Amino acid sequence: MRRGAPTGASVVIEGVEVSTEHWIGGERVGSSGTFADVSPIDETTLGEVARGTAEDADRSVTAARAATETWGRTAPKERAEVLHRIADLVEERVPQLAAVETCDNGSLLRSMKNSVMPRVARNFRFFAEQLMELGESFEMNGFESRTEWDPSGVTVVITPWNAPLMLATWRVGPALAAGNSVVLKPPEWAPLTASMLADIGCEAGLPDGAFNVLQGIGEEAGAALTAHPGVDRVAFTGSIETGRLVAQAAAANLTPASLELGGKSPFVAFADADLDAVVKQAVNQFDNAGQVCLAGTRLIVERSMRDAFLERLIEAAGAIVQGDPREEATDLGPQITREHFERVDGFVKRARSEGATAVLGGGPNEELGGLYYRPTLVTDVPAGAEVLRKEVFGPVLTLQTFEDEEEAVALANQTEYGLAAILYTGDKVRAERVAERLVAGTVWVNCFFVRDLRAPFGGAKSSGVGREGGVYSFDFYADVKNVCMAPWPQASER
Ligand code: NAD
Repeated sequence: MRRGAPTGASVVIEGVEVSTEHWIGGERVGSSGTFADVSPIDETTLGEVARGTAEDADRSVTAARAATETWGRTAPKERAEVLHRIADLVEERVPQLAAVETCDNGSLLRSMKNSVMPRVARNFRFFAEQLMELGESFEMNGFESRTEWDPSGVTVVITPWNAPLMLATWRVGPALAAGNSVVLKPPEWAPLTASMLADIGCEAGLPDGAFNVLQGIGEEAGAALTAHPGVDRVAFTGSIETGRLVAQAAAANLTPASLELGGKSPFVAFADADLDAVVKQAVNQFDNAGQVCLAGTRLIVERSMRDAFLERLIEAAGAIVQGDPREEATDLGPQITREHFERVDGFVKRARSEGATAVLGGGPNEELGGLYYRPTLVTDVPAGAEVLRKEVFGPVLTLQTFEDEEEAVALANQTEYGLAAILYTGDKVRAERVAERLVAGTVWVNCFFVRDLRAPFGGAKSSGVGREGGVYSFDFYADVKNVCMAPWPQASER
């Protein structure tokens, strides 16, 4: 049997065997308890997964600490080679990874295969390349000031369920590249592909303990990891509410935390924009059944284009095919769990009771049943209504209008979130002016979701703390050091 393959408890999904145990110190390890992993496709239980305890968390941090002596002392070039091998194995296993992720979190199989899993590989390859480009030196009066990016030690990575492997590797890639050891706590609603990544890391040559997977519930395994004094970095992706708890726990140990949190992004369209492009992009905001942190869920359009836009959007949304995410023709899959489905429906019901109108969708897809929620557009929403303020994280968009640029910017920024903003206009000067005034970590002008991994990524306001991407990631995961050398030869040698 190949090293890293499941040894203890496992499940078989679409012919792929996946361990449901932890991966700690290069071994499969069980727990005293388990939790049920349920597929959103049909609400069947895929299997029972190890439910990590505080003791398991301690064991994984200890294993990661031990690997700071191996992986942490591995030369950058060798680290980069291992990361490239991980990327190669991910590329080889795209069909298996995609099949398991789709069954586990309900995302479209075709997106998993065509874009998400290739991006997982890129998350390793890019940071392996970036690692080899690090280097900075300043000269002053013969003194040389050099920047070094030393490994910082043990990194805890905690991730959400909406794009489990992509979001995990976005942090695991740079953390490993920086020479850190990692403990990954995947989401309990979609825990399986993290386990497959453990197999891949092992096969690619990561030493024992350099990469660990601790399965479990957030309030248990996650909380134990973030409060652990032996952790040097915490990288968290999830909701603002949990982000606050994670930041508090990390702060007690003065552990730096990088937080990528929720979004409620504005999608601002001026009447001078290309209407076809605006409509097409607005429909894309339903992608992943609306479970996308960056989604521009607040459509804010110039009043003069409202009626034409609305008519076209309703027509285009009518062509969305909803159903089993494994089918090639499907555009929109299920919500992740019953609990989340009810939460989404609660937002729509309360919006209606506050006076809003659902001009599209507005409830469960009765034909499909299960966790399938219809793509929904809510109009005539009173200012300050909950659905304009809180992240729904489902296929629910709102529509607001503006008279002029000033009002567009004010509406766009009227939120505690600041993850992203989308802007459509045909006027380049206006594009520059408005982009500057939008408060967001990323502003997409006449586009969406275009990601250059060299660029900074993160949230403004409550949407996050810190920036990652390119050298920003190394600034967080590494211990950045300045070595200042006096001129040679030294006075005593002269
Ligand atoms: P969540 O905050 O409920 O959970 C995220 C992770 O935190 C899970 O692994 C969970 O087990 C863990 N967790 C829960 N309680 C914890 C605790 N007390 N201590 C430590 N860990 C704990 O979020 P979710 O529902 O899984 O994901 C949806 C949220 O994630 C949305 O708000 C979405 O916008 C956000 N998100 C942000 C980004 C980004 O890049 N900014 C990307 C994707 C998702």
